[in-house]
Amino acid sequence: RSLTALHLARSSGKSQLCYHPQMVMDVLRRQHFYNLLRDAMDEKQFYLAYQPIFDINQKLVAAETLLRLNGPNGAISPAEFIPVVERTGMIHDLGEYVLQQAFQDFSSLYRQNLESPLILSINCSVHQLEHPKFYPYLLKLFSQHIIPPSQVKLELTETVMLNSAVHLEMIKKLKDLGVMIAIDDFGTGYASFTYLLDIRPDVIKIDQSFIRKLAQVDKPDRDNERIVASMLTLARQLGISTVAEGVETVPQLQWLQQHGCDYIQGYLLGKPMPFVEFEKVVKYSTSVSGSMESQENIL
Ligand code: C2E
Ligand code: MG
Ligand code: MG
Ligand code: MG
Repeated sequence: RSLTALHLARSSGKSQLCYHPQMVMDVLRRQHFYNLLRDAMDEKQFYLAYQPIFDINQKLVAAETLLRLNGPNGAISPAEFIPVVERTGMIHDLGEYVLQQAFQDFSSLYRQNLESPLILSINCSVHQLEHPKFYPYLLKLFSQHIIPPSQVKLELTETVMLNSAVHLEMIKKLKDLGVMIAIDDFGTGYASFTYLLDIRPDVIKIDQSFIRKLAQVDKPDRDNERIVASMLTLARQLGISTVAEGVETVPQLQWLQQHGCDYIQGYLLGKPMPFVEFEKVVKYSTSVSGSMESQENIL
């Protein structure tokens, strides 16, 4: 309605306002999207998906939580809404929801199977680290659930540079607590070599853009393979574990096995799924572990 009003104002010459219609559309669309996200928060429409993470022998060892939201026209990607919730400060409430839900879900897994507990890997925006309530909230969750800090990994995803004293201090506190720190999307954006020294992460997750170009039969990309091979070597020399993200093919998996990657994540071995589905995967993987394991493996 306000767009029409502006058009009218302009065409009737009564106003000096002269916004380009495209600009107006952008503002309205952004406002609409913001309202949609705000409502989704209020109505608790966000939920978590879990994607399994395997060791190099395809044993299930961890899961990554991924936020999901179904909008009026279908699923909305976190790649689309996370930057908006970060800009508007909603990330703090949403981040608390993610932590709380993940702890709750994983507690039920832990109660069922204490022998080989999985690692819970949670995405955490760099902005969340700046919030004074972040650390106390995490402490509260640890006090309320049976999950020990050593089983939790925070994947630092970033849309801003992670280098302020506030960030580094918080990361140190988290590590002192025993929580593992992973650098997500390693090798892209800001996630560079200086991080390895400043943050001393436990894990790096090699970005999918590198994994996608591994072991391509039709057009091999040797330079890309050299880069991934050196990331793996560098990480090993620094005592940092490696996860390959976005593994989709058997040749990629074989390549990573041959080059000493520690952990594998991707559609080849498991897609993100609702928690109830993930529970079944966990039960199945515990029941086939041992003698059956090698038969169940892809390789
Ligand atoms: P990410 O943390 O790097 O997560 C990996 C993304 O790759 C996920 O996309 C996952 O669904 C997708 N993926 C996994 N395996 C494959 C594969 O084999 N092939 C392809 N093509 N894609 C694969 P998703 O769920 O859309 O999430 C996108 C990004 O949104 C995440 O990237 C993360 O940066 C952010 N995100 C998701 N959930 C949260 C959250 O709870 N908090 C924060 N701060 N960020 C989140
Ligand atoms: Mg991640
Ligand atoms: Mg990633
Ligand atoms: Mg990403």
